[in-house]
Amino acid sequence: MSIDEAIRTFDRKHEEYERDLLEFLRFATISRDSERAGDMRACAEWVRNQLAGAGLQAEVVETGGHPAVFADTGPVAGSKTPTLLVYGHYDVQPVGDETLWKSPPFEPTVRDGAIFARGSADDKGQVMVHIAAMRALHDAGLPFPVRLKFLIEGEEEIGSRHLAPYLRQNWDKLACDHVLISDTSKHSADTPSLTQATRGIIGKVVTVHGPDHDLHSGVFGGTVANPANILARIIASFHDEQNRVTIPGFYDDVRMPTDEERRALAETDLSDEELIKATGSPGPHGEAGFTTAERRGTRPTLDVNGLQCGSSATIVPSQATAYITMRLVPDQDPAKIIAAFDQAVRAACPPTVRVSISSSQGSRAYVAPLDLPVMKVARRAMEEVYGRPPVIVREGGTLPILPLFKEVLGADSVMMGFADPNCNLHSPNEFFHLRDFQLGVRCVLRFLGLLGQPAS
Ligand SMILES: [Zn+2]
Repeated sequence: MSIDEAIRTFDRKHEEYERDLLEFLRFATISRDSERAGDMRACAEWVRNQLAGAGLQAEVVETGGHPAVFADTGPVAGSKTPTLLVYGHYDVQPVGDETLWKSPPFEPTVRDGAIFARGSADDKGQVMVHIAAMRALHDAGLPFPVRLKFLIEGEEEIGSRHLAPYLRQNWDKLACDHVLISDTSKHSADTPSLTQATRGIIGKVVTVHGPDHDLHSGVFGGTVANPANILARIIASFHDEQNRVTIPGFYDDVRMPTDEERRALAETDLSDEELIKATGSPGPHGEAGFTTAERRGTRPTLDVNGLQCGSSATIVPSQATAYITMRLVPDQDPAKIIAAFDQAVRAACPPTVRVSISSSQGSRAYVAPLDLPVMKVARRAMEEVYGRPPVIVREGGTLPILPLFKEVLGADSVMMGFADPNCNLHSPNEFFHLRDFQLGVRCVLRFLGLLGQPAS
């Protein structure tokens, strides 16, 4: 069978698939917003119908939270080929300040060859890449080159809360050789990327409690502990002069990248100028002895995300809160880091205040072996489509489900990212280039075609 035929079919019908993508983007699937439960379910059903329309057995499955969609091509005839599980998500981030959007976030608008809408890149547009590939095969009357299963969930943006139990209960149904994910971006506008690793995460909320109500700072300032002052002192104690995290044991289990991995990483490094341009920050800052790409991809970090206390009134606030996240790398154990963090905070807290600490459950980092045969096939497919090999990327962000796929299904993940690196992910005016959609579908089809070839 000829993948070229499927690609020709895609070229002929892509406008139809793109119109369907616009429809997909009209569902206001903000998983964090409990009032959107109806939109969530309607969208899950829409995804199910799309996959069923492409010839897969598809169903909406209950997870205990927002529903997910599962689909399966069923076994394919012929030689022994791998089974792939395509994972993605149909939920999206909140829209933020709506006045900053040039067009409404849930009214997808095409401008300058790009679709602007919340979820266009993360992740509906990229889910649609895979759906369109299935439809092109189906519309061309071709058999599926390999067995494909789909798991499209509705809670990725809220930490995939219910997916772990679903995965554990349905491991046999989801059984696969590899997971295929498009939820990352290209390295640059014309350099494709394969993501090899993602970091883990722990979220912490630290509240320092002082007096039982806000006090007049003229009457009581300097006579009792000020929770804001104490919290600032605790936060300042988290890093040393080398910008290393000071929590005892924090680096104990950190796996250093191999020389080959460091070389691959060097290809994706940002110069100081590029970093300054991308962030608007006056200069780079991070753990001494590591490049920007290494800091982002291979080193654990600790960041204060938010602070809450007091006001401009002249008071000693009764309490102060810090929202903190730590990004983890292989082989750090979230439970161990949580315990070490809590202990360090308590040790830094004087007896003149009380401290309360809560945490998210935390998720581990993930890294795929670089020499995996399926990674080589993915590289080849991308090179054929883009005319240059993909760079290997270590993502600074987190996909909590990857270590679970490895643990429960024994499957490594292939992460092909098709979105533009500056696609305003999680920000106003998120976009997905139509060209990236089209190249993405070609990549997926080529990849499936290569995987479906009998081993020679
Ligand atoms: Zn995403």
